[in-house]
Amino acid sequence: MPATHPPDPRQEEAPDLIVRGGIVLTMAEGRAPIREGTVRIRQGRILSVDDRAEADPGVEILDARDAVVLPGLVNTHGHTAMTLFRGYADDLPLDEWLFNRIFPAEARFLDPETVYWGTLLGCLEMIASGTTCVADGYFFQDAGLEAVERAGLRALIAQGVIDFPAPGVPRPEDNLAVGRAFMERWHGFSERITPGLFCHSPSTCSESTMRDASAVSREFGSPLQTHLSETGGEVEEIVKRTGERPVLYLDRIGVLTPDLIAAHAVHVEAEEISLLAERRVRIAHVPESNMKLASGTAPIHKFLKAGIRVGLGTDGCASNNNLDLIQEMDTAAKLSKVFDKDPTHVSAEAALRMATSGGAAVMGLEREIGTLEAGKRADLIVIDLDRPHLQPLYNPVSTIVYSATGADVRHTVVDGEVLMRDRRFTGIDPEEIMARVEAIARTIGQG
Ligand SMILES: [Zn+2]
Repeated sequence: MPATHPPDPRQEEAPDLIVRGGIVLTMAEGRAPIREGTVRIRQGRILSVDDRAEADPGVEILDARDAVVLPGLVNTHGHTAMTLFRGYADDLPLDEWLFNRIFPAEARFLDPETVYWGTLLGCLEMIASGTTCVADGYFFQDAGLEAVERAGLRALIAQGVIDFPAPGVPRPEDNLAVGRAFMERWHGFSERITPGLFCHSPSTCSESTMRDASAVSREFGSPLQTHLSETGGEVEEIVKRTGERPVLYLDRIGVLTPDLIAAHAVHVEAEEISLLAERRVRIAHVPESNMKLASGTAPIHKFLKAGIRVGLGTDGCASNNNLDLIQEMDTAAKLSKVFDKDPTHVSAEAALRMATSGGAAVMGLEREIGTLEAGKRADLIVIDLDRPHLQPLYNPVSTIVYSATGADVRHTVVDGEVLMRDRRFTGIDPEEIMARVEAIARTIGQG
């Protein structure tokens, strides 16, 4: 065996972007933090991650001194345009909140224009708080997809499917035709954006709707998203209708596959957890939304022990009410501890994994993103450390999960493109977006 040497930089391809000087947490299995690390990037891919500090004259440098460099965070469950309803209806039971406030407001005020600007506001917030990839499910998703494309994020953008009249789909019998047309329009359009379908839930979609949506998703090679067992009431309703608990029911109808991203999975019994693991279903854990709507707590420690792929999500802004995944990590860790009455459950490290490599696995993008390694796409963030609430520094993972917030993110990079540098957006104009959303919100507020 030849001795291994560090790569000779003269033989390496020249980078076009370098992130230098920070503590690099690659999140790759078994790799220790790099104290003063350098990430070299070329044409959107990572060339190298190491501690070589030699000069690369003429190359764009992102300064990461006094900061931590991390893979970009992955939000595995969101309805981005719901930023429009942030603070519109709070502190209500889920059924009343959803059926009496949110659904009627969506029916009245959503159109391609409002979805476009609401999605862009959400993108601004995600870029500013370190999220580089999102799984989004909503309506009027041509507009949602165009907004995400303009913002530069990586995403799975899914058209909503529900057996009720929905925004842009007044006749429920058209829901899958609309979904399929959406997939056909955008399939292969962009390397960063995958079109998909989002079944609202097994209680609002019929057996045939769930089955057909699953088949269409498979045909296009996209994951299918759904809400699953979010509340006890929803579980009861499905048991009444089908005679089975939701996970068993979905398995019987052939929807419980490795391509399913199930958000919530709060009310699941031991037998269901085993089945979720066996069928390799992916879970999006959304603790803050579950807390705000008092839905319950997903048994995350058990999911992780069973080897289930688990990512973190924010859900929509009407039930959170922000898109800050750094705060969501803190909540995820603490909620599992109090739920299980065990402070060792869901450690800071486990929470950070859910938001990075775990999220990438839930998206089916683990070969492309989720860790900082040569050959992967250059989706990364730099988080400041030189702030009073982040000092002193014993363990950067603990500091990020338990002390930082999204406001501490300094730079955000997607596909080698700097979307935020020193907290200034490089591509989209925050003033324009906030002014547009404010005008829309005035109309919504007047009811
Ligand atoms: Zn949701």
